[in-house]
Amino acid sequence: MNYRDRLTETGLAIFLLHGVIEESRYAVRNYTRKHLPKDYFRRFLLDVREAGHPLSMDDVVRHHRERRPFPPRSFAVTFDDGFENNFSVAAPVLEELEIPATFYLTTRFIDENGMSWIDRIEYCLERAPAARLSFSWDAGPRTLRTADDRIKFLEYLRSRVKQDNSIDPDGLVSSVFQQCGLDEVTSSGDPLDLKMSWAQVKKMAASGLFTIGGHSHRHVNLCFLAPDELEREIAVSIRLLKEKAGIRPWHYSYPEGLEYCYSDNVIKVLRKHGIVCSPTAIDGTNDLDTGLFHLKRIMVT
Ligand SMILES: [Zn+2]
Repeated sequence: MNYRDRLTETGLAIFLLHGVIEESRYAVRNYTRKHLPKDYFRRFLLDVREAGHPLSMDDVVRHHRERRPFPPRSFAVTFDDGFENNFSVAAPVLEELEIPATFYLTTRFIDENGMSWIDRIEYCLERAPAARLSFSWDAGPRTLRTADDRIKFLEYLRSRVKQDNSIDPDGLVSSVFQQCGLDEVTSSGDPLDLKMSWAQVKKMAASGLFTIGGHSHRHVNLCFLAPDELEREIAVSIRLLKEKAGIRPWHYSYPEGLEYCYSDNVIKVLRKHGIVCSPTAIDGTNDLDTGLFHLKRIMVT
C-alpha cells in the first residue's frame, strides 16, 4: 500500500472503498479486499492525511464551480453500497481522525438488507461442499473443490457477467445455490453482507463530517436499462433517500462505475433529479477540468 504516492500537487485523488471489518475469517470471501481490515484502514487514513489535504465531496463541487484550485495533494474518501460496517467500524475512525467521507447508498440494500448478486454467490461458495457447476452459456462443467478453484470461478463470473447483458444475474445466483445444494439467501447478517438501517443512515447524515449520496436502487448497470427503467431506477433511489432519511441528495455514484456503466443519457437523468456530481470507478486522479460526472477514483485494497 502506498496511496500517498497517488496524491498530486494540484490535483484531486478520490479514494473508493466499500467496507471496513474488525476481523477477516474467510477462506474464499473478501479475496478482493472489498472490506479492509480496520487497522489497515486506519494506517491508510493516517498516511494520506499526513501527506495531503482531505476534502468533502461538497468541497470538491465548490472548488469546481468556483474554479478555485484544490489545496495541494487533495484527497476525498468515498464508500459505495451502504454496508453496516461503514457506520459501526469505519465512521468512528473517520470521526477520530476528523476526515470527511461520502457514502453512496444503494437504497434497496438499505431497505431490505439486500445483497449484490456477486456477494450472494460469494456467500454460497464460502459454504458449499465440493460441486460441479454447469451453465447453458458456459463451455463446460466447472469443478469447485479448493478455495483457489472457487476464487478463480468468482473472477471469471465477475468479468463475464458485468459486461454481458444476456446473463440474468439473479437467475445465475439461483442456479449456483441450487447446483451447490444450498438454500438461496437474499440477505445475511455477516459483516460482509449486513447493510446500514435507515436509522443509521440518518445518524450518518446528521454528522457534520459525512455526506450521503445515491448509488441506484438495485445496483444494476444503468446502461443496461431501457429509458423508462433508468428513470424509475434513479427516481426510486432518490425518493427513498428523501422519504426514509430526509436526505435530498445531490451526490451519486454509478454502480460498477466503469466506462460501460454510465453514459451521457444516464448523466442527463441524474441531472434532472438534482444530482450535481457522480464519480466513476475508473482509476485515476482529477484536476479542475475533470467534469463532475467523470471524476476518477482510486480503489483502496
Ligand atoms: Zn457499488
